[in-house]
Amino acid sequence: MSKSDIEIAREASMKPITEIGAKLGIPAEELMQFGPNKAKLSFNYLESLKDKKDGHLILVTAISPTPAGEGKTTTTVGLGDGLNRIGKKAMICLREPSLGPCFGVKGGAAGGGYAQVVPMEDINLHFTGDFHAITSAHNLLSALIDNHIYWGNELGFDERRIAWRRVMDMNDRALRDTVVSLGGVANGFPRQTGFDITVASEVMAIFCLADGLKDLEDRLGRIVVGYTRERKPILARDLQAEGPMTVLLKDALMPNMVQTLENNPAFIHGGPFANIAHGCNTVSATKAALKVADYVVTEAGFGADLGAEKFFDIKCRKAGLAPEAVVIVATVRALKMHGGVAKDQLGDENVDALKKGLANLGRHIRNVGKFGVPAVVAINRFIKDTDAELAAIQEFTKTLGVEAIVCEHWGKGSEGTEALANHVTKLIDGGSAQFRTLYDDETSLFDKINTICREIYGAEEAIADKKVRDQLKQWEEEGYGNLPVCMAKTQYSFSTDPNLRGAPSGHTVPVREVRLSAGAGFIVAICGEIMTMPGLPRKPAANTIRLDDNGLVQGLF
Ligand code: ADP
Ligand code: MG
Repeated sequence: MSKSDIEIAREASMKPITEIGAKLGIPAEELMQFGPNKAKLSFNYLESLKDKKDGHLILVTAISPTPAGEGKTTTTVGLGDGLNRIGKKAMICLREPSLGPCFGVKGGAAGGGYAQVVPMEDINLHFTGDFHAITSAHNLLSALIDNHIYWGNELGFDERRIAWRRVMDMNDRALRDTVVSLGGVANGFPRQTGFDITVASEVMAIFCLADGLKDLEDRLGRIVVGYTRERKPILARDLQAEGPMTVLLKDALMPNMVQTLENNPAFIHGGPFANIAHGCNTVSATKAALKVADYVVTEAGFGADLGAEKFFDIKCRKAGLAPEAVVIVATVRALKMHGGVAKDQLGDENVDALKKGLANLGRHIRNVGKFGVPAVVAINRFIKDTDAELAAIQEFTKTLGVEAIVCEHWGKGSEGTEALANHVTKLIDGGSAQFRTLYDDETSLFDKINTICREIYGAEEAIADKKVRDQLKQWEEEGYGNLPVCMAKTQYSFSTDPNLRGAPSGHTVPVREVRLSAGAGFIVAICGEIMTMPGLPRKPAANTIRLDDNGLVQGLF
């Protein structure tokens, strides 16, 4: 019986975080410590590095996910350790886990096996309190809105058109739709609203895209919180909310440093949803990492059609980042599922099904090429994978001019990613990267959506009702037309049908609804059911999480 992630994490010999910082030349006094193994890196120090040359940025993404699991986080950690192993000054950047999935279905999000970040329990639980700060800042704005209406509604909110809800970091379906201000005159005007999970908050998206405190404050001020009866937008800045919200977030915006099991540095910072937001760690952490390390490995949520596309078209475009290599994680198991194999049959060798499923990987490889960045496939090896199956993947990717490298970091740590690390540095040294976004700022909003659907999803076209198209036109007239688009679609398929695996083409993508995230700086195009407050499953992970007789956390995985 192999050890669980938490057992491996607990056996880690962690070093003091100041020692990890010292590897990157960071003086101890610039690390604001939260106990011995976690710290925030001071803004002052980052400011002092302003003129230093940036390191190389590497994105880890994946094929379309299946319930069989791909291991992007595990591979991000493994590659970071692998680069350190071959003598490079490398670090990784990851998202912070949310409590919802930890106590729900997915479990923690700190890697797995011998490729993890630690202290695992802390990272998965309250960590350095960033999510608390984001929740508080979001809810302060909610309170200011209802308070404004209570005291006379000078701005003229149409109470039926308030766009700002409340948030908490938990899966709690009971709060999806609520009525507030019940109980009489002293409690305000009753109205219907609801809660989203903190990671779905626009404040989270803003926090992750903000380039410094000033930019954070500007973006917070631009949030559209509601509309007047004449449909005129009311902004957070009309309520003077951006000042106090920034105060609540000022310490949180400093990146959090921890370490991998192999004592290499990692930033874990910010955790926006990958559907209604862009799904990657903060710009602050990525930029800081590029200053202190020579190689930075970062992960984008979901498969490459969503995660990588948004990483490129939203984050890199806005933050001026230029990634130089992309690692596409694939597994034999998931490819077999794309080829039609049922989940309970994945243990058996099935080269034919795998070959069928390779269409999914092929599409993702071609897509990444459209952004001008060279790619490599990391085959995240599972114990039951056979040599014939691994070889079939390698033969296939060769026909597309891309290497597929078998990686065994989950079982062996950095030894298992040495080959991948060497190949990635070779790709970067080759200097072939010429990063470009998929569409220009000036393209119309609907054409941006259409371009993504055709070029990335292999669709015939995007379709939308007149209502949706009119809304996009109105935003263009109001000056929001140059924003990028954040696609909210199922992560399981290139289409909008989660059961359509492989590489479907010629489908249409219906855009049901569009939302403006003016502070984050994107338009969300919703194509399918989007849940902004998940629920817990019948048997949530919470049922098995407890403290044992030695005071150790059991059940987090
Ligand atoms: P993602 O980031 O793609 O959601 P993770 O890296 O978080 O995936 O991995 C999901 C789960 O799969 C983790 O619990 C991890 O331990 C497990 N896992 C990852 N790679 C392997 C592997 N090669 N063999 C067995 N389990 C793995
Ligand atoms: Mg992950």
